Amino acid sequence: MQYRRLGRSGLQLSALSFGSWVTFSTQVDEGAAGELMKLAYEAGVNFFDNAEAYAAGESEVLMGRVLKKMGWGRDTYCVSSKVFWGGKLPTQRGLSKKHVRDACHAALKRLQVDYLDLYFCHRPDLDTPIEETVRAMNELIAQGKVLYWGTSEWRADEIAAAHGVARALGLAGPTMEQPQYNLFARERVEREYLRLYEDVGLGTTIWSPLASGVLSGKYAEGVPKGSRMTLAGYEWLRERLESDAGREKVRKTRELATLAKELGASVAQLAIAWCLVNPRVSTVILGATRPAQLRENLAALELVPQLEAGVLARIEAIVRTKPEPLERF
Ligand code: NDP
Repeated sequence: MQYRRLGRSGLQLSALSFGSWVTFSTQVDEGAAGELMKLAYEAGVNFFDNAEAYAAGESEVLMGRVLKKMGWGRDTYCVSSKVFWGGKLPTQRGLSKKHVRDACHAALKRLQVDYLDLYFCHRPDLDTPIEETVRAMNELIAQGKVLYWGTSEWRADEIAAAHGVARALGLAGPTMEQPQYNLFARERVEREYLRLYEDVGLGTTIWSPLASGVLSGKYAEGVPKGSRMTLAGYEWLRERLESDAGREKVRKTRELATLAKELGASVAQLAIAWCLVNPRVSTVILGATRPAQLRENLAALELVPQLEAGVLARIEAIVRTKPEPLERF
């Protein structure tokens, strides 16, 4: 395993980490979740990602039981939660001081830990002043319940605003963002956040490196039984897959698979290794429903040295998703 600093912080996360969105509780029971987490941990993964919204809290319950059962030293792994979608009532959602605090306490209980290493605002909340959220996060930090706080899918100007407020108040701004990043979603990480890496030392814990499995190549010949695209509640993902844009992604993935084969790798490994080439990526959060998938994906690290300029140019020529560079003098 390789370890990378989370932005300008001193925390070193494994370059590949493991998350539970969609999978835990919906596709994977406690036994299988334990098997996957053990496999990840034994490969050097030190960060497990979660959120209050995942399976309406059940995903954290499962992860908490596994953490307890495994008995790993609390100083050997990091665990996260995210606040935003906690329930239907106005007090159970968003980033008000009340919900940030309640959600943190509930996550600690479900995960059966004393503190969260990373705590994310799962989305921006336009109805709560940023200052209120900055103060709420800092109170949790002062109480020792959270170590690093961050955002997920916030715009660059919102992250900068949070830092501005924090600086003025002598408080901690967001250490990290959790954006989507993969061969088909690059704008935020490669363009929008550029200034933030330099100015505030933003770290990134990136999600959906396989674009929800599309970049594994599994949808090349239709939708396999039991895959994410067949799940009730995720029809929106399937609609995207079956749109013109989705079909284009499947076509490009087929071409990427040919290139991956030349390199002696799978297309999933190529897609994950490509994310790792970007030094702005602190950790790539993997998702998996089966140990074989996770084993395959973890081996992507070994492919990174093969992705030199020539190979990267061939990947660009296939995907054609590189954002326009920002103008500089
Ligand atoms: P991916 O894009 O890597 O998709 C993972 C899914 O793809 C697996 O669950 C599996 O689904 C399939 N898959 C994975 N590897 C393979 C393989 N080698 N061969 C075939 N199929 C494979 O990541 P996720 O979308 O799961 O995101 C990863 C994590 O990021 C989440 O768990 C969560 O922690 C975080 N996240 C955060 C978000 C945010 O808003 N902050 C949003 C989304 C995710 P199946 O077997 O069902 O086909």
